Amino acid sequence: MELYKEHQLKIYNSLSKEKEIFKPVLEGHVGMYVCGPTVYSNVHLGNLRTFMSFDMIYRYLLHLGYKVRYVRNITDAGHLENDEDEGEDKILKKARLEQIEPMEVVQRYVVDFHNITSKYNFLPPSIEPTATGHIIEQIEMIKEIIDKGFAYEVNGSVYFDVLKYNKEHNYGVLSGRNIEEAIHNTRTLDGQSEKRNPQDFALWKKAGANHIMRWVSPWGDGFPGWHLECSVMSSKYLGEQFDIHGGGMDLKFPHHECEIAQSHTCSGVQPVNYWMHANMLSLNGQKMSKSTGNYVLPLEIVSGKNNVLPKPFSVGIVRFFIMQAHYRSVLDFSGEALLASEKGYFKLMEAIKALNSIEVKGSSSFDVVAWKDKCYQAMNDDFNTPILIAHLFDAVKFINQLKENSATISAKDLEILKATLNAFVFDVLGLVEEGSEGHSDKLDGVVNLLIRLRKEARDNKNWALSDQIRDELLALGIQLKDGKEGTSFSVI
Ligand SMILES: [Zn+2]
Repeated sequence: MELYKEHQLKIYNSLSKEKEIFKPVLEGHVGMYVCGPTVYSNVHLGNLRTFMSFDMIYRYLLHLGYKVRYVRNITDAGHLENDEDEGEDKILKKARLEQIEPMEVVQRYVVDFHNITSKYNFLPPSIEPTATGHIIEQIEMIKEIIDKGFAYEVNGSVYFDVLKYNKEHNYGVLSGRNIEEAIHNTRTLDGQSEKRNPQDFALWKKAGANHIMRWVSPWGDGFPGWHLECSVMSSKYLGEQFDIHGGGMDLKFPHHECEIAQSHTCSGVQPVNYWMHANMLSLNGQKMSKSTGNYVLPLEIVSGKNNVLPKPFSVGIVRFFIMQAHYRSVLDFSGEALLASEKGYFKLMEAIKALNSIEVKGSSSFDVVAWKDKCYQAMNDDFNTPILIAHLFDAVKFINQLKENSATISAKDLEILKATLNAFVFDVLGLVEEGSEGHSDKLDGVVNLLIRLRKEARDNKNWALSDQIRDELLALGIQLKDGKEGTSFSVI
């Protein structure tokens, strides 16, 4: 029997602002859509956390035995610099600055994104559709919205009529924004905008003479508005009404509110049953910002090539650290917090390894079945990974007692303990065993020995030997990093 039949999963729904019992549209199947990256720059740490949260959610749904269709799009056109449909297309701007083709920008950052997601042990989504691959469908949806009377064309651009929609439906249903109030508080249009109201948003934008990302449409050459692609691709692959839609908290408004308005206009139903939003991430207690230098990229954490963390951290440690916070809580990323996580992570990994040499004896002095239930209860309560991890450490404590012969376990319970730990640690949390992705104790020992010999060489001013050790290690893919507190290394 599938596990989901034995468990009652509850999900916090951003739409109702309550935890609700999860009931998919089609029993045993889950349709999940997550807004993917806009591929005009490297994926930053905040994005990594959002996608990792949904990777964990996807993994747990699979673990429960659901057949999941997970769609995560790639935005490769239409995302303008600000929310008011003004400014340049982000990808086009990058292409102009670097004097390359927009599709070269897209290719570069799609490759970067996939590199990061595979390095961080993400499961690939079932479908990864692109905005540019769905221009025809987007034009069709615009036509439908115009036919239903909720969009208007001005000078080759098409805008969604938010006020008209709000008269019949509730624009603000997700974000809680009061559109009447917003209209009341906005100054009258300065005559520069084509929109009837500032709240209206673009479904299609006319391409200027120099705009190279352009497609033919009934309204002339142009390109789609950013919000449209998600309505189009989610309904195409998951149906007019599907189970889960996720994204970062920052997408709730206007992006997701606009998606609801577009989809609802076409289908007449609420498109999504459970809206899920992952919270933000700060770095060293402050907002991440490239300009202030308070910034680190996902791959720089692993390589150690950054100025904000004391040493490199393996992907397993980073994943473990992120999973120690609930996906709806704000999380502060810092070297100190990662160092603390590293200790816990190694304890957990050592305990799992130790399980292989535990001897069974009589009955168990720890209620393994009750413990297993608690692990599921944590995950069934809106994917509460920090509580799950606390339970995992109850098991670690027990395993350590077993090692010291101050506790006992039966053969049956040992099997349950092993299977449950493996399922939650590797399948659900997606942690990786150090040694495969990171490095083993033996490698640590050997490199640290070489680091000590190199230091002796340097103390003796034998620069040739010191450089030889550094260079030959680098040739093997091991990079030494000299810092105030000595030399550390990373496997690159
Ligand atoms: Zn989206």
